[in-house]
Amino acid sequence: MKEVEILIIGGGPAGLSAAAAAAGLGANILLLERDDRLGGQLVKQTHKFFGSKKQYAGERGYQIGDLLIGQCSAQPKVEVWPETTVLGIYEDGVVTAEKDGQHLKIKPQKIIVATGASEKMIAFPNNDLPGIYGAGAVQTLMNVHGIVPGRRVLMVGAGNIGLIVSYQLLQAGVEVAAIIEAAPTIGGYLVHASKIRRAGVPILTSHTIQEAYGQESVEGARICRLDENWQAVAGSEQDLKVDVICLAVGLSPLTELCFQADCAMNYIPELSGHVPLRNDYLETTRAGLYVAGDVSGVEEASSAMVEGRLAGVSAAYSLGYGQDVAPRLQAEALAELSELRSGPAGQKTLQGLKKLMAKGEAVC
Ligand SMILES: Cc1cc2nc3c(=O)[nH]c(=O)nc-3n(C[C@H](O)[C@H](O)[C@H](O)COP(=O)(O)OP(=O)(O)OC[C@H]3O[C@@H](n4cnc5c(N)ncnc54)[C@H](O)[C@@H]3O)c2cc1C
Repeated sequence: MKEVEILIIGGGPAGLSAAAAAAGLGANILLLERDDRLGGQLVKQTHKFFGSKKQYAGERGYQIGDLLIGQCSAQPKVEVWPETTVLGIYEDGVVTAEKDGQHLKIKPQKIIVATGASEKMIAFPNNDLPGIYGAGAVQTLMNVHGIVPGRRVLMVGAGNIGLIVSYQLLQAGVEVAAIIEAAPTIGGYLVHASKIRRAGVPILTSHTIQEAYGQESVEGARICRLDENWQAVAGSEQDLKVDVICLAVGLSPLTELCFQADCAMNYIPELSGHVPLRNDYLETTRAGLYVAGDVSGVEEASSAMVEGRLAGVSAAYSLGYGQDVAPRLQAEALAELSELRSGPAGQKTLQGLKKLMAKGEAVC
């Protein structure tokens, strides 16, 4: 059985930042990533990120990923196992994983879960036809594998992901027939929405998909307008001939390992689903198990990186590393998180965290 001081699960921005921060204080790290490459969602983000310069705003997502990978590989105390999927965290502290068809056992002193999020699906007739994708899957197809998903797309969801992926589809030469959004307003940044509208793509708010149709794969979709009670408006139906329907309807924190490790969990809609209770330093109710990034509540890469750093420093500090600097690093990370969440986009997260803390007090 492999023994290690800190085990990090997930090599996205949160996991990579955690690894660099904890190793920087002297801890030994093993980072497990189920994919064959590190970077998480960042590997497919070809657009320039917003936010603050401290979190590399203005750089393209994949460039930020390369930067974080560079910071990790500069640390001799970080060992990375790619193509390794963590399967379970057990009562005795043993973590099991699968690599090359082999079942591995690891005994860490501390664990940081940084598994990110998965795409949400919505229910409508024929939603299992080939040609219906999550927006993240479309991004992976196009930006990682160089494959376009089809010729003409209906995008469902006008949050940032729906808007950005629509723009990237246009850049790849794919026609976007429309973006539909059930809410009465566009959820994503208006700068992205304006670019898409300028390219001639209609963004239809208060609209939903009623059904997909096609023999072997998607041939079209029926959409309709919604009234103020979210009911279909009779006579507003439209038929769109498309061969791809792309769903950008949100993400859910990937918390199965936290459930299995018996962390106290709560459903917080503002954080996009079930999330673990944790203290300010991201330690959950299972002692020595920390969370960071989208798994702790869906936000952005910027906050994932800062949370990763905070969890990494805190886990290393609890093992006796960085006694002179860790409290200052923790305070700096907490201040950065407050700053990131101080804008309008951060209000939802703050509300969610407040709810989570209130529920936490009831549990403790
Ligand atoms: C289309 C799109 C556009 C975006 N644009 C922006 C933007 O402009 N600005 C911004 O700040 N953010 C943006 N984001 C959000 C950002 O990408 C995410 O918030 C961020 O990647 C979350 O980081 P993470 O490390 O928590 O998770 P992820 O990046 O999802 O990484 C998690 C990693 O864990 C691995 N993993 C999961 N389960 C296991 C397991 N059991 N065993 C081993 N490994 C596992 C996964 O393979 C993955 O590599 C965007 C996201 C999308 C989808």
